[in-house]
Amino acid sequence: MTPSAEKTSVRPVEILNRRPRFVSHRTSGFTESVIREMTRLAMEKGAINLAQGFPDFSAPEEIKQAAQQAIAADFNQYAITWGAKPFRDAIAAKYRKWYGLDYDPEREITVCCGSTEGMIASMLAVTNPGDEVIVFEPYYENYGPDTLLCDAQRKLVSLRAPDWTFDPDELRRAFSPKTKAIILNSPNNPTGRVFGRAELMVIAELCREFDALAITDEIYEHILYDSASHIPIATLPGMRERSVLVNSMSKTYSVTGWRVGWVLAAPDLTDSVRKVHDFLTVGAAAPLQQAGVLALNMPDSYYQKLARDYQGRRDMLLGVLEGAGFRCFRPDGAYYIMTDIRDFGFPDDYTFVRHMIEQAGVAAVPGSSFFANSNDGSKLIRFCFCKKYETLEEARLRLTRI
Ligand code: GLN
Repeated sequence: MTPSAEKTSVRPVEILNRRPRFVSHRTSGFTESVIREMTRLAMEKGAINLAQGFPDFSAPEEIKQAAQQAIAADFNQYAITWGAKPFRDAIAAKYRKWYGLDYDPEREITVCCGSTEGMIASMLAVTNPGDEVIVFEPYYENYGPDTLLCDAQRKLVSLRAPDWTFDPDELRRAFSPKTKAIILNSPNNPTGRVFGRAELMVIAELCREFDALAITDEIYEHILYDSASHIPIATLPGMRERSVLVNSMSKTYSVTGWRVGWVLAAPDLTDSVRKVHDFLTVGAAAPLQQAGVLALNMPDSYYQKLARDYQGRRDMLLGVLEGAGFRCFRPDGAYYIMTDIRDFGFPDDYTFVRHMIEQAGVAAVPGSSFFANSNDGSKLIRFCFCKKYETLEEARLRLTRI
């Protein structure tokens, strides 16, 4: 028998049987990411992927060239763990220009591997087991495992359709002396809701009263429609020192695969975030941080065009979906449309999405993956529209098959 044949003689079933002993309790509550599961299913069935939110069009030419030049210029070894200095300087300059927020690149900025790492590093940095973390529901699926990895208790507060607003009394009831933080994601994935100043004031007041932090995922900050505007909660009175602001290059510069994000927080919090980040990942890709300097210095017209282009795609997909019989919740920001599938008469969101992938060749995300209790989202599905017009046009044709 050759060595490779010996290796394959371990039957998978034996490996599966060992699971209970070797797998950590921490991960036992995890489910597979439904968003990424839908991407795999879409690829397997040749369906158009309106599930996972990543562009199918090119990243800006000058940003790609900057990355190529950085590699050629030998930015190929570790950058400083918490981020290359020119990139941290560019981040500081951008927040000063856009929001009048001053963050010290030396003590208050940590570059990490996408906002996914930024969120979990921040949560591991500030929570102790048993601390409570408030999460608005529906929520981006990562926040579930994030709280589990920290052994934190998740407290849910509903965003109510059709406007996806919250009830201030329900939010107040969710706060307690054990509340360590509230997670805020505005513009919101999956609802498209953009919190206004009045709502942010309510949240900020509760954070101050209960001495809690706001951990904010602001990744869709520049993807805004009509008259919506993005207000970082850190700009509200008393919130600068109790905010942990997380963001990344992914959505703003159409480079979701680069995995370059950042965390902005007061020096004591940043100290703690940097320790977690250092031992989790050491650092984000060095040449891509160099390209990030150019990206974050893009002129205002770049961001205006980004929002304008996405608004066109949003309006197109709204038309496509309404034409196919979906009831749509019109987003004010981010690049997703939540839809109500009750009119189609399917038993649940999973069955519907599977049918749509197999029969029509279009993938979306079952709504239940954005809720702790899957019954709550079983009549909803989420489509993304960060796609070429040709892709959305093809979706229009295919959706006539349902
Ligand atoms: N944020 C994107 C979405 O919600 C991509 C998720 C992911 O796979 N990281 O679809």
